[in-house]
Amino acid sequence: PNGRQSGNKPRLMLMGQRRSGKSSISGVVFHKLPPSETLYLETTTQISQSSMHSFMDFQIAELPGHIDFFSPDFDQADIFGNIGAVIWIIDAQDQYLDALTQLLNTITYLAQEWPNINVEVFVHKVDGLSEDFKNDTFRDIRQRIQDELSDLGYDNAPVSFHQTSIYDHSIFEAISKVIQKLLPQLPTLESLLNSLCSSCRIQKAYLFDILSKIYIASDTSPQDTTSYEVCSDLIDVVVDVGEIYGWARPPVDGKTGDQRTEFNNHACESMVTMEKKGHKYLYLREMNSYLALVCIMSDDNPMERKVLIDYNVGVFQEALSKVFQWK
Ligand code: GDP
Repeated sequence: PNGRQSGNKPRLMLMGQRRSGKSSISGVVFHKLPPSETLYLETTTQISQSSMHSFMDFQIAELPGHIDFFSPDFDQADIFGNIGAVIWIIDAQDQYLDALTQLLNTITYLAQEWPNINVEVFVHKVDGLSEDFKNDTFRDIRQRIQDELSDLGYDNAPVSFHQTSIYDHSIFEAISKVIQKLLPQLPTLESLLNSLCSSCRIQKAYLFDILSKIYIASDTSPQDTTSYEVCSDLIDVVVDVGEIYGWARPPVDGKTGDQRTEFNNHACESMVTMEKKGHKYLYLREMNSYLALVCIMSDDNPMERKVLIDYNVGVFQEALSKVFQWK
C-alpha cells in the first residue's frame, strides 16, 4: 500500500463560460504553465480530462460553458459520477449576468441529482481590478447567487466563493481549500499539525504537495495570505535543489505507473532546511518524495532548539506515514 488508493484521488471539474479561464487554471496549477503563456491557449471547446501525477493524483476535467449537459445526449453519470467538486469560474472582468444564470442552473441541477458535489465559485481574473471594485464584484456575485438560491429553497446547497487570479498565489490557495474539503484525512492532519505547532513554537505549519504547491492541510490557527506565499516560495527551492540531489521525483506530467518513485525510498536523504526570511525563520522538511512540511517559526531563536524540532517533526512524519499508510 502506498497511499494512492482510489479514495485519495480528488476529482475536480472546471466549468464556466468560454474564455473564463478554465484551461489557464488547469495549465498554471497542474501543468506548471507560466501565467503569461495562457494568452495563447485555445479556448476549451470539448470535454477534456487531464491528471496530475502527484501525491493525490489529482484529476481535472473541463466542461466548456456552451455544452448543455442537461440534454439527454449526455451521460450525466459519466460526467458527474466521480466528481468531488465542481469549480465554477466567473470572469470578474467581464459582464457576468449570463454566467450567473448558468451557474444557478448548475447548482440547482447538482443539488437535486448529485448533492454530494461541492460547488466552488471562483470569481476569477481579479488581478486587473482595483481593490474596491474587486470586493464589490465579489460581494455582488455572492449576494445574487445566495438570494436566488434562497428564493428557490436551496439555502443549504454546498456552495463556496473564492477570489482568484493566475497571476498570484490566490489560485493555488483556493484550489488547496477545494481539495482539502475532499480529504477524509483532513481532521487528523490538522490535529497532528496543531500539536506539532504547540510543541515546537511554530506560528503556522503547512503540509505541501511539492509538485503542485497545493497544501493539503495546515494547522487551524488563523492565517493570512502572506504566510502561504512565503512558504510556497520555499517549495521552489526544494524542487530546484532536489533536481541536483535528493529524492527522485516523477515528472510533472508522468502518466505511466512504472515511473513512480516508491515512498519509502531511503536511499537518498530528505531535505531539511531552517533559514531566516525577513524577520522569521522558516523550517522545511520533506516528508516523502511528494510531501513537504513548511513552517513559520514564532520566535527569534529556533536554531537553539533545532534538535528538538527535528525530533518532533520526525514523530509527526511517523504519524503521517500511518495516516497515509505509506510504510
Ligand atoms: P477557457 O475558455 O475557459 O479555457 O479560458 P482560457 O483559459 O483560454 O482563458 C481565456 C483568457 O483569459 C486567456 O487569454 C487567459 O490568459 C486569460 N486569463 C485566465 N486567467 C486569468 C487571470 O487570472 N487574470 C487575467 N488577467 N487573465 C486571465
